[in-house]
Amino acid sequence: MRMSSLFLRTLREDPADAELPGHRLLVRAGYVRRVAPGIYTWLPMGLRVLRKVEAIVREEMEAIGAQELSFPALLPKEPYQATNRWTEYGDNLFRLTDRKDADLLLGPTHEEMFTLAVKDMFTSYKDLPVSLFQVQTKYRDEARPRAGVLRGREFVMKDSYSFDIDAAGLQRSYDAHRAAYVRIFDRLGFEYVVVQADSGAMGGSASEEFLAVNEGGEDTFARSTGSDYAANVEAVEIPQAPPVEVTAGPARVVDTPGTPTIEALVEILQAQHPRADGRAWTAADTLKNVVVMLVHPADEEHPEGWREPLVIGLPGDREVDPKRLEVKVAPAEIEPFEAADFARYPALVRGYIGPQALGEDSASGIRYLLDPSVAQGSAWVTGANEEGKHVVDLVLGRDFTADGTIQAAALREGDPSPDGTGTLTLARGIEMGHIFQLGTKYAEALGLKVLDENGKLTTVTMGSYGIGVTRAVGVIAEDTLDDVGLCWPREVAPFDVHVVAAGKGEELFAAAGELAEGLEARGLEVLYDDRAGKISPGVKFKDAELIGIPTIVVVGKGLADGLVEIKDRRSGERREVPVAEAVDAVLSEVRGA
Ligand code: ATP
Ligand code: MG
Repeated sequence: MRMSSLFLRTLREDPADAELPGHRLLVRAGYVRRVAPGIYTWLPMGLRVLRKVEAIVREEMEAIGAQELSFPALLPKEPYQATNRWTEYGDNLFRLTDRKDADLLLGPTHEEMFTLAVKDMFTSYKDLPVSLFQVQTKYRDEARPRAGVLRGREFVMKDSYSFDIDAAGLQRSYDAHRAAYVRIFDRLGFEYVVVQADSGAMGGSASEEFLAVNEGGEDTFARSTGSDYAANVEAVEIPQAPPVEVTAGPARVVDTPGTPTIEALVEILQAQHPRADGRAWTAADTLKNVVVMLVHPADEEHPEGWREPLVIGLPGDREVDPKRLEVKVAPAEIEPFEAADFARYPALVRGYIGPQALGEDSASGIRYLLDPSVAQGSAWVTGANEEGKHVVDLVLGRDFTADGTIQAAALREGDPSPDGTGTLTLARGIEMGHIFQLGTKYAEALGLKVLDENGKLTTVTMGSYGIGVTRAVGVIAEDTLDDVGLCWPREVAPFDVHVVAAGKGEELFAAAGELAEGLEARGLEVLYDDRAGKISPGVKFKDAELIGIPTIVVVGKGLADGLVEIKDRRSGERREVPVAEAVDAVLSEVRGA
């Protein structure tokens, strides 16, 4: 490929909307271009990288016996209605109407279609197991498209689905996928971790995520210092604190005027109601009650959806983690509890909410869930449900109860690891892959049954497995770049080698052209910077660094002495070799790496 005719313009200026350096460089180096928020064009250079990522994914999927097919992106509503996702997906789903007023959607993920395809074609346990996959464009109207191709509204996903007759089969399919994912992400060449994922109602270790370790990521994961425990914070399950003996005296209401915040409360407690044991009050002695409004999707009883206040009780030195909460209440969405809501629910006194007035069986009927660190028998300072008043020594089990627990408190570095060994460290990551034992959820909803060995109809059990293919390009860029540009790993680089004609004169261009052809003849993919005229060697070097092909060959000043320079883009190491040996030297560099 000659750069003089390549459809490429590198940019000096950073795009205005680029949050992350990788995004900035992919735009500047001419790999992608924004069309609209979260919607990108893949230019020739970008498409070459994308195709290589796809090829790796495809190869490893085929290696575990998965078969490729391709579903449309434009889909009818009915299957998604059968699983309730037509409504559950909420605003993230692109819905459209055709000229006959039929509802359609742009597929955000394809469990329904795969389930129906297997139902269409298979009838017996003898047909199973089968794993099917596609590498296909997905659509999600993301609330916050971000960082270029990392979170798009149109993006390419590899999604696969396994179909088995029983749980043991599903486990085998899952393990095979897991192993394939390890090989894929090893080959893609960025740092990643495998963490337990939130699996909604499924529970257990039935779901894992592959996260690229990256400070700019939107996911937070926790790792133990003492064991191999690793989990997305959304999936971390804090153990229930064991009951403690009640030692507190009777609960008493105290005046705490002007204390809607925990800090103000602790201060006034210390000044006016010091503890009998002499220890200072801390925020951890208080029980904070956070109220949110849940917006439930439509169901048969509530065709318009419905709203429900939910109060979460947790120690006053903890915060609610919105993401942990979100997955616990899904498919309901969370909205802030506004002044108008407080007016509608007078049982909730802003700043002074206490659990005595809460619970599904209480007069208010408002659901109350507790953080699992709150032990039966423990005593708390908490709101007295009256402006300017708190209650001291309110004991769980004696003076108040809850409707259950919820894992929504934010985790902190140094918290004990849930597996009992070591403490937690927290870091950020980008979700690259998700493997998930779905079980029979979709098969049941859509009636996928086959005859088992005894001739009995049995519901098929499924797994679903995703990889963000376009996202992977963004993450590889992000993880490998340096101060001057992109720095592709060999397996996904748009070309193997970048030959730069750095100078003037027919002779130099002839030598560079010959070298480029020689490399191509040996099976390498070559980008040849043959641009003549006003483009200086300096500009060409800058472009080569920006574009990030792993091996750069400079045909320049040294040519007078019969030498060319081979440069490693990543390490910056350079060496001169005689022109006649250049092809072999580059080949061994590319192949030997
Ligand atoms: P996230 O939590 O990042 O929104 P998700 O849990 O919605 O991801 P899945 O439904 O499991 O993602 O999709 C499988 C894979 O598709 C993800 O692991 C991710 O790599 C990729 N992916 C998901 N959403 C996007 C997006 N908006 N843009 C690019 N890739 C995406
Ligand atoms: Mg996921």
